Amino acid sequence: MSLGEFDLIAKYFTRTVTRAALGVGDDCALFATSPGMQLAVSSDMLVEGRHFLPTVDPERLGHKALAVNLSDLAACGAKPLAFTLALAMPRVDERFLEGFARGLLALADAHGCELIGGDTTQGPLNLCITVFGEVPQGQALLRSGAQAGDDLYVSGTLGDARLALEAFRGTVALVGDAFERVRVAMERPQPRVALGLALRGIATSAIDVSDGLLGDLAHVLRRSALGAEVNVDALPRSAELGALPRALQRTCTLAGGDDYELVFTAPPARAAQVEAAARAAQVRVTRIGRVVAEGRLRLLDDVGASVPNTFGSFDHFKA
Ligand code: ADP
Ligand code: MG
Repeated sequence: MSLGEFDLIAKYFTRTVTRAALGVGDDCALFATSPGMQLAVSSDMLVEGRHFLPTVDPERLGHKALAVNLSDLAACGAKPLAFTLALAMPRVDERFLEGFARGLLALADAHGCELIGGDTTQGPLNLCITVFGEVPQGQALLRSGAQAGDDLYVSGTLGDARLALEAFRGTVALVGDAFERVRVAMERPQPRVALGLALRGIATSAIDVSDGLLGDLAHVLRRSALGAEVNVDALPRSAELGALPRALQRTCTLAGGDDYELVFTAPPARAAQVEAAARAAQVRVTRIGRVVAEGRLRLLDDVGASVPNTFGSFDHFKA
């Protein structure tokens, strides 16, 4: 016999909370931030067929559902505290629930982020997580803080998630290990929480790359009313992507989406502090350009020649 709503909540999503005062089981959860802290809150929804393939491994889906939310906390320099999970699914599938909960809660535990509540209903597979984090009053990294003259950086590598999507679509052939490696980038992104925390007081602005570098960078520039020059040949990319034609490399790194790396700005005088933050967080950080006063984004190649910006960014209502 299949589990009912409350049985499945009890079996898969009810855990002892230590930080929160009250977790799953009542009408509301209760928790407090530490003194002097502001609450950072973000929601992200994952819809089957839109954000993930129906064939995805449930454990990886559980990981990714929380990872994309933790990535938003990372981009604000906020420390994860707790999250809620709203879940619609067509039927009670315990194989799915068991894997999903395992992936979800393993990442939650790795970041000390407690599941404190949610909602469960029948319907097309759809996941919505809301995360709560904390950041010292006034110290959140915002999109609006970039300054003319700042260096522009990105963490990790860009483009592998898009490359995996192209491989799934059959437009690119990747064999053996190469496919598996880029697939992990798409299905199991690592939110850069430690880097976001380490960049507090160093970075002037930050955003996480979810819709493609150019689109997300444009948000920072618009909010900061500035322009930027980006060296498209300096963008960090994996060996797998680096082995493919240049046009494809550029599409994947500039307009790929689903990267969940941090793009941030910092004054050149803080370059050593940026390096130290990256080392402390054990994440590679690459300088990819600079912020300029003129309100335009210019793409340049390695020799400083202009590269036409024909790369779109992802928009759910235009894609
Ligand atoms: P209510 O009807 O009062 O909103 P529910 O019956 O929806 O309460 O949920 C009962 C309890 O289970 C609540 O504490 C709620 O936060 C929690 N809950 C429901 N679904 C989930 C879920 N998917 N993950 C975690 N907690 C959940
Ligand atoms: Mg409810």
